[in-house]
Amino acid sequence: MTDTPRLRITEIFFSLQGESATIGYPTVFVRLTGCPLRCGYCDTEYAFTGGEWMSLETILDQVGHYRTRYVTVTGGEPLAQKTCLELLQRLCDHGYQVSLETSGALDVSAVDARVVKVVDLKTPGSGEVERNRYENLDHLLPHDQVKFVICDRADYEWSVQKLQEFELDRRCEVLFSPSFGQQDATALAGWVLADQLPVRMQVQLHKYLWGEAPGH
Ligand code: SF4
Repeated sequence: MTDTPRLRITEIFFSLQGESATIGYPTVFVRLTGCPLRCGYCDTEYAFTGGEWMSLETILDQVGHYRTRYVTVTGGEPLAQKTCLELLQRLCDHGYQVSLETSGALDVSAVDARVVKVVDLKTPGSGEVERNRYENLDHLLPHDQVKFVICDRADYEWSVQKLQEFELDRRCEVLFSPSFGQQDATALAGWVLADQLPVRMQVQLHKYLWGEAPGH
């Protein structure tokens, strides 16, 4: 037996950040295995199971193979593995600009304050709206982001209601993203403009470049 902290990892890869505030920057992605949710539009079902146990040293070593300061820890749901918190801290200590992509269903309160948290609010169209942990909104910092993946007009209206109810744009940046292949991006852009919303509309750059292939 060993006490070396380890994580189950699906993949570590180098790509362009496809969304959020650092979109377009070359970034190392560390994809942790496992997720307790089952969103209807999930594009990373291959990360639900399998993976390989890696020590934090091995992960840091592999991240260090690439010349970039941007690292994104994603999944699956990375916070489903407790040691994720230590990985985030160690990456920050190494001087990386770290972001965490999380479903919003698990507690984010212990995430290192240097990490940019990208926290989903799951819409009804995701099939997982009941999993939203609204207490997480109290732990958002100004550099964090709340993301809505919008499947249809009803999801849009629900998202606008949450935006207003929780005054989300006063807490941090708010992202509206169309569910790929499900919600027409141009229509969503039109709704955002018509309602003059204080949100950032985004499309997932990596899907326009590489489709839904793993490793991007
Ligand atoms: S939270 Fe993310 S990884 Fe988990 S099922 Fe939903 S989209 Fe997939």
